[in-house]
Amino acid sequence: MSGTLYVVGTPIGNLSDFSPRAEETLRQADFIAAEDTRVTLKLLNHFGIQKPMVSYHEHNLRERGMMIIRRIEEGENCAVVSDAGMPCISDPGEDLVRLAAEHGIPTVVVPGPSAAVSALCLSGLSTSRFCFEGFLSTNRRNRQLHLESIKNDPHTLIFYEAPHKLCNTLSDLRRALGNRRISLARELTKIHEEVLRTDLDGAIAYFSGKTPKGEFVLIVEGAPEQEKEQSATLEEAVAAAKAMVENGMKATEAARLTAADTGFKKSEIYAGLLK
Ligand code: SAM
Repeated sequence: MSGTLYVVGTPIGNLSDFSPRAEETLRQADFIAAEDTRVTLKLLNHFGIQKPMVSYHEHNLRERGMMIIRRIEEGENCAVVSDAGMPCISDPGEDLVRLAAEHGIPTVVVPGPSAAVSALCLSGLSTSRFCFEGFLSTNRRNRQLHLESIKNDPHTLIFYEAPHKLCNTLSDLRRALGNRRISLARELTKIHEEVLRTDLDGAIAYFSGKTPKGEFVLIVEGAPEQEKEQSATLEEAVAAAKAMVENGMKATEAARLTAADTGFKKSEIYAGLLK
């Protein structure tokens, strides 16, 4: 009978964030697939866990992935972890989960912190809809194409960035997106945790002449909502709202829904309903 693949989140700085369930899962697993076995060994030593490990990282995931899948198919339970945070999020794991699904292997998540969501929560920017953009490419053309493709996206944007590339990235974001609000979350859950809430011009000025240090997540305000194209006339919008009212909907609600659909103001449609 097949074993199970456990996708286990690990702390992004503060070891107290390692959950009892994550600890228990590593204790119970037959082996651990670790992005860097030296990093994971420190975690295991801290919690007094002794467990065989195999390295599983972006350069060996194809052949190592199949080897891990075979071992699970033969009945072993495997926990996959990355150096910090959730596996699969800008870290190895996605391929292994896909392979496991293709082979009918049960997969279970043991959630832990992720820098992206943690930084979003502290940003003060809209959290209702957001888009994870990960690391921007170091290739200039690909980076431009990426930024071009998201410049009109109204969702809050989340980027990972290394400290030595931060200043360049801030300038590229400013050029591509205009001056938007940004929150820079640094060293989350660690001693020097801080959040800088400013705009792109402010962030560029703040880091000018400084050498950024530590790990950063950038949370950037989404593009302003585009004006809706008005495809119906006001009379048609009012008629649509009237039909909703005749079907039992409140006039204010019908006006709100039709306004969202057509781009007319709710008050205009409501006034039309009262005529
Ligand atoms: N899988 C991880 C997760 O779930 O957050 C992300 C791994 S990715 C290779 C590493 C990037 O995450 C860093 O370059 C940084 O942008 C961000 N990061 C990780 N830990 C962080 C922390 N404690 N504070 C701020 N950013 C962090």
